[in-house]
This record gives sequence, C-alpha cells and structure tokens, in this order.
Amino acid sequence: MTEQVHKGVLVFAEQKDGNLHKVTFELLNKGRELAQKLEVPIYAIVLGPKNMAVEELIYRGADEVFYGEDDAFNQPDELLYKENIVTLINRIKPEICLFGATSFGRSIAPRVAGSLETGLTADCTELRIDEDRKLIQIRPAFSDNILAHIKTKTYPQMATIRYKEFSEAKRDPQRQGKVAKVDAILLESPAVRILKQLQSNETDITEAEVVVAGGRGLKSPEDFKMLKELATLLGGVVGASRAVVEEDYISSDHQVGYSGNRVKPKVYIACGISGAPQHLAGMREAENIVAINTDPSAPIFNIADVGIVGDLYEVIPMLIKKVSNEKT
Ligand code: FAD
Repeated sequence: MTEQVHKGVLVFAEQKDGNLHKVTFELLNKGRELAQKLEVPIYAIVLGPKNMAVEELIYRGADEVFYGEDDAFNQPDELLYKENIVTLINRIKPEICLFGATSFGRSIAPRVAGSLETGLTADCTELRIDEDRKLIQIRPAFSDNILAHIKTKTYPQMATIRYKEFSEAKRDPQRQGKVAKVDAILLESPAVRILKQLQSNETDITEAEVVVAGGRGLKSPEDFKMLKELATLLGGVVGASRAVVEEDYISSDHQVGYSGNRVKPKVYIACGISGAPQHLAGMREAENIVAINTDPSAPIFNIADVGIVGDLYEVIPMLIKKVSNEKT
C-alpha cells in the first residue's frame, strides 16, 4: 500500500475481561494531537466480549469506535485478532495506526503490518507530523544511545508506543461520537489453542509504585524471598535484571530493561545490579532510585538518588527490620 488514499488516525484499544488497558487512553491522547494537526478524524477499534462499555473510548477522544463484539475475544488469540483488525483497517483506511507496546500489542502489530504489507516502528517514545504530513516515529536505538527518527513510505504508517510514555486523554462524558458494531470474523479452526492461563497474584510490575529489583549480586534464587519480603512491606513487587532471569532465578515477567518491562514506580530499589545501559533503559524514569551495591564505581550510582555502598545481605535485612518496626 503506497498510494495515499488513507485518512485518519486509528488506535487499537486493548482490553482484558472487558476492561480497557490504560495505554489505550494514552494512545488516544497522542492520536488526537496527531489527528488535529492533520485535520482528520480519530478512530478506535475494540474487539471484546459482549456489552463492553465502549463509549469510554468516545469520552476519551475517539470520533468513531468500531466494536467487534464476541466472547471469543476473551482469549488472547493473536491470529483471531489479526484477522479482524486487518479487515477493519482495510475498510477504514487510516493513514496512521497506533498500538500499545504491551506484550499483546507487540505480538499483534507485526502480524497486522505483515498482512497489510506496510512498515512498523516498534516501541516509539514520541510521534510527530512533518511538513509532508508524514508521521515521524521516534524511538531509542542502540541501547538508548541515539534517538532514531523513522518515516514509513507505505500506508498505513504503523507504530507501537511504549506504555506510560504519554499522559492519558482526559475523560469528558459529554463528548459525542459514533459506535459502529461490526461483525466479528471467527476462525473455523483456531490456529492457537489456549490450554491454560497462568495468572500471578502480584500487581503488574508496570503498574507498581514500588519495585525492589535483584541482580547478579544475589547468590541464589531463594534470596529473592528477602527482596519479596521488603517489597511486600512497602506495598510493591519484585523486579530483576536480565542476568538473573537468564539464570532462572525468577520468571521473565519480572525482568526490567530494554528487552523486559519498562517501569516508572515512585521508588525503585536496585539490589546487586550494576546498572548496564540495557537495565537503565527500563527504570531510569523511576521517581526515586535507591541503589545497593558493594562496588562504589558501579554505574547504577550515577543515576541513583540514594546510593548505599554495601553488601545487600546486610542492608536488606536492616531495611526489612526498620520498615517492620515503623509499621508496628
Ligand atoms: P552484573 O552486571 O554482573 O552486576 C552485578 C552487580 O552486583 C555488580 O555491580 C556487583 O558489584 C554487585 N554485587 C555483587 N555482590 C553484591 C552484594 N553482596 N551486595 C551488593 N551488590 C553486590 N539487562 C537487563 O537487566 N534488562 C534487560 O532488559 C536487558 N536487555 C538486554 C538486551 C540486549 C540486546 C543486551 C545485549 C543485553 C541486555 N541486558 C539486559 C543485559 C545487560 O547488558 C547486563 O548484562 C545485565 O543488566 C547485568 O545484570 P546485573 O546488573 O544483575 O549483573
């Protein structure tokens, strides 16, 4: 698709159990800004279970919502989603399509782009419109050492956007817009069969206000229990560097960094983590960073608000004791 017969900005609204993912409101905020600049409408596609409150997308800025309603969308089946999204994009013909860079968004967007034979820029942190009405897709590259500015020649111009990069669109319950119910396309023989969904009781690390993260300074997987105890006392969750995820100390959903989760908690406590650029890429925007490391020259101290040069096996128990005492 090279010729520009496309018009409008489209946001894919991700949902789980009928609840919209908050990245959708961030995409609507940025999408609205782009649409205003281009003087075009902004659309949202939502594929979800029956009777979802999809008007929320209008209150948050969408002009028209295309709602594919079927309980089949309760399953995160990428091929089912891809089929429906591609059909809708071919019908709406937007010039820009935005997806959240969540794990589901990262999985669907390339499939959709592949089917549409168009380009995709992943993990954008900024978007702009240039003088030729083209989308400039900005994203960190080479471990965040440069900011690449990318233009796509083909249409629609597609990008995934990192969660928590933009503020959410304000809610206006008086806002008017259209909701078009569309027929869901169901796959006769689904290529993906969900056998079991594992659900953690912990808060999603990307939503947590406190993250206590462990790295190769930990001597064994069991030592994560100590970090978990501190995290629980502080109302937070446990994070990890890739080094310990690769050593199977903890599952990859705890990984923070370039190839893991991007977090923006109020407090990030890095325990035995050196501060490699790929780790910093996922946590440098935490409001307060506390680093505990035996090596005073560890790079993590360059970005820490509070640096503790010391052995985590001494410091963490002291912190646990202090916080416990303050709570009782
Ligand atoms: P190390 O660098 O080995 O640091 C361990 C630290 O613990 C040292 O500073 C040491 O002084 C300290 N220490 C040791 N004992 C103690 C103690 N008793 N008390 C206190 N401190 C102690 N990494 C990520 O984390 N996330 C990513 O998403 C990621 N993505 C990557 C993507 C690519 C393409 C590549 C190439 C690499 C990626 N990495 C990522 C790996 C990254 O480069 C580092 O190798 C990794 O972050 C190092 O983990 P670490 O800090 O736990 O280990």
